[in-house]
Amino acid sequence: MAEAERPKLLVVDDNESNLDILLGLLADYDVIVALDGHSALDLLRQETPDVILLDIVMPGIDGYEVCTRLKAHPRWRDIPILFITAKTDEASLVRAFDVGGSDYVTKPFRARELLARVRIQVEYHRAMEQLRRMAVTDELTGAHNRRAFFELAGRLFEDAQARAEPLAALMLDLDHFKQINDGYGHAVGDAALRQFAAMVQALLPATHLFGRLGGEEFALLAPGADAQTATELAEQLRAAVAELALAAAPSHLRMTVSIGVATLCEGAADLDALLRQADARLFEAKRDGRNQVRRTARLSTRASAERSGGGCAGELRP
Ligand SMILES: [Mg+2]
Repeated sequence: MAEAERPKLLVVDDNESNLDILLGLLADYDVIVALDGHSALDLLRQETPDVILLDIVMPGIDGYEVCTRLKAHPRWRDIPILFITAKTDEASLVRAFDVGGSDYVTKPFRARELLARVRIQVEYHRAMEQLRRMAVTDELTGAHNRRAFFELAGRLFEDAQARAEPLAALMLDLDHFKQINDGYGHAVGDAALRQFAAMVQALLPATHLFGRLGGEEFALLAPGADAQTATELAEQLRAAVAELALAAAPSHLRMTVSIGVATLCEGAADLDALLRQADARLFEAKRDGRNQVRRTARLSTRASAERSGGGCAGELRP
């Protein structure tokens, strides 16, 4: 678990004797060091510290400017910045907060004060990270929740469209799920949903997006997947679900899933249209007996697929 890891700090200071003192004081932390603002910004492309300790007066870009740039960027703006400074005048300290700093410590350092301020920022950052994770996660299954799924899916759709790359959507719905809840109780039903989601996530590449839309309905976006790849994935998932031995349920009890598949190449104008196509095929899979994958390629969509550009060649097979 991330919470158990040693907190990581980035210390940015151009004065090496200051750095030596800080490294001594912060011996319980995993500390990385940068000697100026530009190196700090470079380092942050590979490292994600819990807190940044940032000197104000440095050659090149000063601490205020480094802070301003970090706060303007979604990837870094949530990392708390603790200014370290010899400046104790009110205007300098107020400016530290104005540019987005969370706190400051003044030089020369008082060891226990420094450690207390660092610890508070680390705890704050970790608590906020946990809240952010909870806000995007479906509590029962650990899959993305509905809101997070649609937000991330929108970006994947736009990326795929802009680069003319394949993208497939799968709509998945567990069959007769109400009978599991009604027949064996909600604890068994909940455990089945968790098992299903864990199994799907274990089978998916990291590039794929998986979310619970509600109840026993899930959706999946597969970047780079053409119709054949997506259909193979859907079939793999369908077969794996049918094999799943359900925890806390009678050993004979099996669960099945119906899946509808649609691809961007078929000409969907937006994410909603793509998901609607997949949903219509899910409906067909249900209607035709469940525990199956539907991916109907209609020849009438060939013209729009060709218009939509690269990545679609040879995609449409009836
Ligand atoms: Mg300095």
